[in-house]
Amino acid sequence: MSKVMLKPRKARPFWYGHPWVFSGSVERVRGRVRDGDVVELLDAQGRLVGHGFWNSRSQIQVRVVSGPEEGPPAQPLFRERLLRAVALRQEVLGLPERATVYRLVHAEGDGLPGLVVDVVGSWLVLQLSCLGMMPFLEGLLDDLEELLKPLGMMERVPGGGLEEEGLERREGLLRGRAPAGAVEVLEDGTRYLCDPMRGQKTGFYADQRENRAALAPLAGGGEVLDAFSYVGGFGLRMARAGAASVHLVDSSGPALELARRGAEANGVSERVTAARGNVLRVLDDMSREGRSFDLVVADPPRLVRRARDLRKGLRLYHEIALKALKVVRDGGLLVACSCSQHVARTHLDEVLGSAAKEAGVRLQEIHRGGQGSDHPVLLPLEESRYLKVSGLRVWR
Ligand code: SAH
Repeated sequence: MSKVMLKPRKARPFWYGHPWVFSGSVERVRGRVRDGDVVELLDAQGRLVGHGFWNSRSQIQVRVVSGPEEGPPAQPLFRERLLRAVALRQEVLGLPERATVYRLVHAEGDGLPGLVVDVVGSWLVLQLSCLGMMPFLEGLLDDLEELLKPLGMMERVPGGGLEEEGLERREGLLRGRAPAGAVEVLEDGTRYLCDPMRGQKTGFYADQRENRAALAPLAGGGEVLDAFSYVGGFGLRMARAGAASVHLVDSSGPALELARRGAEANGVSERVTAARGNVLRVLDDMSREGRSFDLVVADPPRLVRRARDLRKGLRLYHEIALKALKVVRDGGLLVACSCSQHVARTHLDEVLGSAAKEAGVRLQEIHRGGQGSDHPVLLPLEESRYLKVSGLRVWR
C-alpha cells in the first residue's frame, strides 16, 4: 500500500479524526499511487495516522476513512458504518415515525466519504462524490436494498459537479424502478410533493425539518411570506399550523407547481398563493407597494460555493436580509437562513446586524438552529456545520 507522509506539525487534526487532508499538508508520497487508491497516512515521524483514499486531482488529496486500529477501508467496515447510520435515524432519532423523507447517510458525517443517501418516500436517492468509494458502491447498494427494501434507488449528481474529483457519473436509476412522477412525502404531518429525479438536490430539503418544527407554531394567525420556498417546506407547514395566509415565491416554476399540489394535498389551498419570480425584485416591489407580513422566511440557495467568494456572498446575504426586513411588520418575525459551509455563524450574525442597522430596526433572536440531526456534524470537521438559521423578532 502506498504511503502519504504529512509535513511536520500537520498531523494533529488527523489524530483527532479530521477526515480531509489538503494538498498543503502533504510532504510526499511513497510508492506508485493512482487516484482513488487506498493509502496509509503517516505523520512526519513515520507513525501511522490512518488510512484513506488518495486523489491527486482533488483539493482534498486524502480522504481519511479509518484510524490505525480499524485497518484499511473494506466492505465490512462500510457495511458496519451503514448499519450505524441506519440505527441513528431509525432507533435513536425515531425518524421513520416522523417523516418519510430524511437523510439516511450524510457522507463524512457518517464515516462514508462522499456518499449521501436520502430516503424519499419508498425510494433512495444517492449522491456520490468520492472516487475512492466507487469499488465499494455495489456492495453498499446490496446492503441498502437489504436494509431499507426501497422500490428503487436513483443517483443524482451534486450541483457543483464532479470534475475535480475525476468522477464521471450520470443521473439515473441504479436499481429497481424509478417513480412515475412526483413523490408524496410526509414530514411531521405535512404532506409535500417532490421530484427526486428532476428536483433540486435529491428532491427535498430535509435539513430544515427541525427549524420548520420550531418556527411553524409562531406563524399561527399571521400573514406569511415564504421567500425561496422551493416546494413549500416552510410555507405549507405554516399554513397547516394556522397561518392566515401564506405567499410562496421561488424562481422555479416546477417547484411552485409541486408546492401548489402540496397545498391541495394538505387542504390549505385557499390560504396559499404562489408566484414565480426573483425574490430580490419581488421584495423591492412589495416594499414599494407597502406590503408587509407577520413572518418572512428567507432561505436562499447556497450563495458562497468557494471560500474566495465569501465577501461577495455576504453582500448578497446582507441585501436579502435588508430587503426582507423592509416587509416585516413591527413585532413580526424574520427567519434568515444560510446553507453555505463557508459562511460561519458569526458572519451571518454580522450580516443581520448591519442589515438591521440599515433598516432602522432592532432584532431579538428567538430561535437559532442548524441542520437536522440526520445531517450529523463530524466534530473536527467544522465545515460540515453548513446550515445556519436565525429566527428574529423585529422591532421598529
Ligand atoms: N425553503 C426551502 C428550500 C429553499 S432552496 C425548503 O424549506 O424546502 C432555495 C430555493 O431558492 C430554490 O427553490 C431555488 O429555486 C430558489 N431560488 C434561487 N434563486 C432565487 C431567486 N433569485 N429568486 C427566487 N428563488 C430563487
